[in-house]
Amino acid sequence: MTRWRYAAATDVGLVRDTNEDAVRVDATLAVVADGMGGHAAGEVASTLAVEMIARVFHEDETVDGLYAAVEAANRLVLDDAAANPERFGMGTTVIAVGLTEDVAGMVSPTLVNVGDSRAYQLRDGALRQLSDDHSVAEEWVRMGRLTPEEAEVHPRRHQLTRVLGMDQSVDIDIVSIEAQAGDRLLLCSDGLSNELTPDQLVQLAGPPMPLEDAVDQLVTAARGAGGRDNISVVLIEFDEVVSTLSPVKKTVSTAPSPVANQAPARRRHSRVTWRVMFAGLILVGVAAGFVAIMHWYAYSSYYLADDQGIIAVYQGQPNGVLWYQPRKVLETTFPSAHLRPADQRALAATITEPSLNAALNYAAYLNRAWHLSRSTPTTTTTTVPVTGTTRAVTSTTTAKG
Ligand code: MN
Repeated sequence: MTRWRYAAATDVGLVRDTNEDAVRVDATLAVVADGMGGHAAGEVASTLAVEMIARVFHEDETVDGLYAAVEAANRLVLDDAAANPERFGMGTTVIAVGLTEDVAGMVSPTLVNVGDSRAYQLRDGALRQLSDDHSVAEEWVRMGRLTPEEAEVHPRRHQLTRVLGMDQSVDIDIVSIEAQAGDRLLLCSDGLSNELTPDQLVQLAGPPMPLEDAVDQLVTAARGAGGRDNISVVLIEFDEVVSTLSPVKKTVSTAPSPVANQAPARRRHSRVTWRVMFAGLILVGVAAGFVAIMHWYAYSSYYLADDQGIIAVYQGQPNGVLWYQPRKVLETTFPSAHLRPADQRALAATITEPSLNAALNYAAYLNRAWHLSRSTPTTTTTTVPVTGTTRAVTSTTTAKG
């Protein structure tokens, strides 16, 4: 069995008008929350978070239960801010240690952290920070952009990268604490850690000083160093510890799971597909329209031309259009030689007519004109009936070409 004793205190400090920190500690859970937001909203956020974490965790004292408790606290702070516009933008850090039971029934301490409140472990006169600060400066230290010394005085050392109440999605650090009997854990808001050095923390929080006295000393020292912020402290001492068989060290995001994200992603994908298909249909339509227009243009007119001594009627453009070659529609009975010289030259250059009938009539006219040019002016002319002078290429076995 793992057991601990504890003492806690929270103090408004010397500068702030209100205490926006909240602390809570019992036999299996210790929580410190540092709220932020105007008009007492920070106090509401930290109190809501601490109470919700205690309620949810005590229903399921496991690692999962501890994570679910922080997740529920985040939702609660968000929901409360949404329902109370005067608290819009409030948020809170939270650092907590719960005694969690694993599948083997082993109970051991687990830390959860969001923000820049801190957890330290004291053993044999040494202090070790268990939590990562989720501040811009500290994130930069972890990325190697700043040294720890530079971070301590960096203007963005108080700018938080994670906080409860900021977004539905929050990353929660979850770490198993490897402890042994006699170890002390110190949980505190930045009002303590900003005012005191690590050496002071070890001296004031470490054994043999009783827990209650140590907590009093820590708060008094922080006030003595300026007390510029609210000061909150939870001090724990383990009487007995067993180690978990399944230690955890991870950061879990409360963001919707990738599975939940697939639906909108698929919809987005299918919308794109529909768009592509629609554009494709338009392209096909345009192409089909182009083909139809070219086909119409290619075969929209007729012309007369010589075909092995006979005047023939062709449909299409004389030199073709794209892949549309002119096709012979009819052969007249008029020899190409039976044309006046000028008409022969015109025939050689092709004679275009708007319709099949116009082409046939013009062929007949040219032939008649040739006959007339060879006759005396008094000769009676005979009209050659168009229908009697043509035969369809497709209906004759003598078709040429
Ligand atoms: Mn603070």
